Amino acid sequence: MDTIKYKRLLLKLSGEALIGDGSYGISQEMVVYAAQEIKLAYETGAQLAVVIGGGNIFRGVEASVKGIDRATADYMGMLATVINALALQNSLEKTGIPTRVQSAIEMRELAEPYIRRKAMRHLEKNRVVIFAAGTGNPYFTTDTAAALRAMEIDADIIFKATKVDGVYTKDPVKNSDAEMIEKITHADVLKQGISVMDSTAITLCMDNNLPIIVFNMKNKGAIKRALLGEKVGSFVGG
Ligand code: UDP
Repeated sequence: MDTIKYKRLLLKLSGEALIGDGSYGISQEMVVYAAQEIKLAYETGAQLAVVIGGGNIFRGVEASVKGIDRATADYMGMLATVINALALQNSLEKTGIPTRVQSAIEMRELAEPYIRRKAMRHLEKNRVVIFAAGTGNPYFTTDTAAALRAMEIDADIIFKATKVDGVYTKDPVKNSDAEMIEKITHADVLKQGISVMDSTAITLCMDNNLPIIVFNMKNKGAIKRALLGEKVGSFVGG
């Protein structure tokens, strides 16, 4: 077992991380890749929880613009996260990692209901816990769910997997002059309107001194290396 910097980690995987080359849905290849990355991290001996998004299948805000009631659309979005959670669980278990899915919306046939103390127990027993259905409430995001669950399970840090290498001054996909920021405080993220997570999630992390590492999911072994204390991506915190 390696010497790890963070004992308990909450990994936020967006639905986008599962898309692959397409523009929509689940690429099995990407799910397997995510599972392998999690396995590498798991083998360090760290305790891992995952909050998975659903944007690859359904996004509440986008659907509400097209005429579905916002709350209904958001519940549909939360169901999308459950689909992703099951896909990830399947791949993780195929790599030999014990997992549990806990859903914020009860679906007993598929997943355990979210019970904080049970989640903690699973982590202590070295099971990877996948939190599905976000916070269980419309008008929130899975970033906020990640911040909330991280606090609840007393995680040391959130690792937010993205498509880019870290936090940038502007959207690096659209602006060639965007610069990567290696370290920034939560307060500056909010003040400068830098896109890391939505403001509810950042505020929650700031108020509870929870650091965030933002990194590129395509960077192989990044989760493991960051767990071991190597500098990976951008650090948000004091
Ligand atoms: N959602 C919600 N409440 C939550 C988490 C998610 O209503 O606590 C809905 C919301 O409609 C969102 C969708 O689920 O658009 C998918 O989640 P998100 O957009 O956060 O996924 P990601 O961008 O990480 O793929």
